[in-house]
Amino acid sequence: MAKVRPPTEQPAKPNIKCTRHECASGLHSFSPRSRKKDSLGADCRGCGAIPVDWSIPRSMELAAFPRLVPELRKEWIRNYFFGVDLHQKAINYALRRGRSGLHERFRHFLSGKFAATPGEFPEPVPVDGPGLHASPLHYARHATACCCRRCFYYWYGVARDRALLESELEFATGLCMRYIELKLPDLGETPMQVPPLRGVQEGRTP
Ligand SMILES: [Zn+2]
Ligand SMILES: [Zn+2]
Repeated sequence: MAKVRPPTEQPAKPNIKCTRHECASGLHSFSPRSRKKDSLGADCRGCGAIPVDWSIPRSMELAAFPRLVPELRKEWIRNYFFGVDLHQKAINYALRRGRSGLHERFRHFLSGKFAATPGEFPEPVPVDGPGLHASPLHYARHATACCCRRCFYYWYGVARDRALLESELEFATGLCMRYIELKLPDLGETPMQVPPLRGVQEGRTP
């Protein structure tokens, strides 16, 4: 008998990317066009509107997170990742570490290629499928524009031609944690025992 795939592992959703926009629905893309790629994000590449109060992300203050979220959600891809449900694998990953363990893991991973490698796209961060489901950090990075140095640049104004400063790494880690705290408000400080998911391969996770 054919092996039945668990219903949670749907085929990849097409077209989840930072250049996607549905301007009529208020969902834009501020990723600069290539001819303007050195300009800081401002106007939508689709309609030219500037609906974001850029002073909020550029202040790089975690305390401003509640005001930052509605600004981020004006971009199609951020809105998608704020709205999407975390896969149970990603939730279990968070539960097994608790808030303090998760912060440490997030900081560790962001301190790798993302922080250390100058350039635009230091590492791929999956946008769908099992790659995405493996870690809550992937969701958090897309939602908060910490996915790549291009997005981190045009949202927060952090230069791409050098390694991140400690304070910038802390900021990125803090943004990702704030996202998780929004998604999983009951997440405890310390790790929980969670049994493995049945029927879903829980492979190596970051
Ligand atoms: Zn637009
Ligand atoms: Zn990005």
